[in-house]
Amino acid sequence: MESTDGTPKGFRLHLALFGRRNAGKSSLLNMMSRQQSSLVSEIAGTTTDPVEKPMELLPIGPVLFIDTAGIDDVGTLGRLRIEKTRQVFERTDIGLLVVGDGVWGDFERSIGFELARRKIPFLVVFSKSDIVRPSEDTSGRLESAKIPLVVLSAFDPNGRNALLEGLLELVPETFLSPPPILADLLPAGELAVFVVPIDKEAPKGRLILPQVQTIRDVLDGDQGCLVVKTGQLKDALDRLNRPPAIVVTDSQVLDEVGALVPRDIPLTTFSILFARQKGDLATMVDGARAIGKLPPQSRVLIAESCGHHPIAEDIGTAKIPNRLRQTVGPDLTIEHVHGHDFPASHVADWDLVIHCGACMWNRREMLSRMMHCRASGVPITNYGLAIAAMSGILERAIEPFGIE
Ligand code: SF4
Repeated sequence: MESTDGTPKGFRLHLALFGRRNAGKSSLLNMMSRQQSSLVSEIAGTTTDPVEKPMELLPIGPVLFIDTAGIDDVGTLGRLRIEKTRQVFERTDIGLLVVGDGVWGDFERSIGFELARRKIPFLVVFSKSDIVRPSEDTSGRLESAKIPLVVLSAFDPNGRNALLEGLLELVPETFLSPPPILADLLPAGELAVFVVPIDKEAPKGRLILPQVQTIRDVLDGDQGCLVVKTGQLKDALDRLNRPPAIVVTDSQVLDEVGALVPRDIPLTTFSILFARQKGDLATMVDGARAIGKLPPQSRVLIAESCGHHPIAEDIGTAKIPNRLRQTVGPDLTIEHVHGHDFPASHVADWDLVIHCGACMWNRREMLSRMMHCRASGVPITNYGLAIAAMSGILERAIEPFGIE
């Protein structure tokens, strides 16, 4: 989903606020956004589901704050809140561990341990310095453990800058210079041809996000592009007085496009470009190669980042399952998950995970899913690579990336 200022969610640095109930997370969020975006109340546990708040946080850039519920909640509703909050770890780039009463207790230690275990940088924010500050002993112990901290009041105008300074120290280099989608593969001045089918799945009046992002990427790289529908491709190639540097197609028409593009022109798919940008292409390629070795009664999990309503010929619910059954056999069990509900703890129940391009997510969440799959010995691939493998043109489609 795109935010109101136009930056796609997947490009935003995800900053998650963790802390006990009433630690001041919502007040902190309001301070950063300078508005009442989150419900602030004196009643502990006002925030239930994680609240997402996109904003332009200069000098850092576009961020997404995720205001979690108190993870120490009790009761049935509390357990649901805790589960929702735990899912937030999966997509966190930087954690803000908010402490309202100045006490670094078991709860803070456990969250800090979980963030450190996942190698997620985090900042401890003592958020109510107008009421209580951490003891010298507490600050000293955190500093000697090299855990960065700030002491501020969400109601003091200087608090915002203190938090920004602390955050800036932790922003990953890769966020400040995100990897290109395609531009690094082409010399400046070259031309790419993009094949975009306009079918009943295409949104009215616009292109989908991966296509728009790729167009912008090559323009940023001082390259050009020509965007055509599948039926216009042959004519477009014939008109060019020299071949394009690459043809990038929607995965769903890869068979058709593969037959039209001469073998000496590099060919890949939008989905494969995003497999590289969002995760680890080599792992995803291994996952695609595993399709050919699946036993007929395997279980396959199809994971989509969006929770959109599928239409009849949807790629995740119809096209890929049909191709899988043709390739592996009719006895396959195919299941689906959407959004942030990924069965990380029992992913070993499946023999293969096939993921969408995750264009709306940040890289960390995809890498986190890949980490869970690798730890359980379950291959993972994405739509484009799976289709390329089942069409017999996987090796051609990954040639531009130099993957063995
Ligand atoms: S389902 Fe995945 S690839 Fe498709 S638009 Fe949503 S996030 Fe992007």
